Amino acid sequence: MYTLKTRAAFDSAHFLSGYNGKCANIHGHRWTVEVCVSEDSLIEAGEKRGMVIDFGDLKHEVRALADFYDHALIYEKGTLKEKTLEALKEENFRLIEVPFRPTAECFAKAFYDSFKEKYLPVRSVTVYETPENCAVYEGER
Ligand SMILES: [Zn+2]
Repeated sequence: MYTLKTRAAFDSAHFLSGYNGKCANIHGHRWTVEVCVSEDSLIEAGEKRGMVIDFGDLKHEVRALADFYDHALIYEKGTLKEKTLEALKEENFRLIEVPFRPTAECFAKAFYDSFKEKYLPVRSVTVYETPENCAVYEGER
């Protein structure tokens, strides 16, 4: 099996609602997203002969995802009071609501699903929330 791997990073804030510890407070990470795509065989003809997919296409998609989540407060739906949300919006802060608890594990699954939707032959997505700690989501093949 052939595998391509690329990564991109973004800086954003999150917090874990209902968590008893430091992560219950708003704090930031440099999130690094590493994506592996794989195929059993390479493209056989044309300008992409000998490739799994075009590295440029893969990098473009991973960069676009990182840019989307960059410099925002990412929060789980239903975990901020309406008046808090209104106040943050009034200040023009960039907010991204997600339908899951914003842990590295849940990001890895959500990013995996979004790459799948773009028809990338994604095998796994790894999300680092620190240089030492990461979560990996591997799909079924
Ligand atoms: Zn955190």
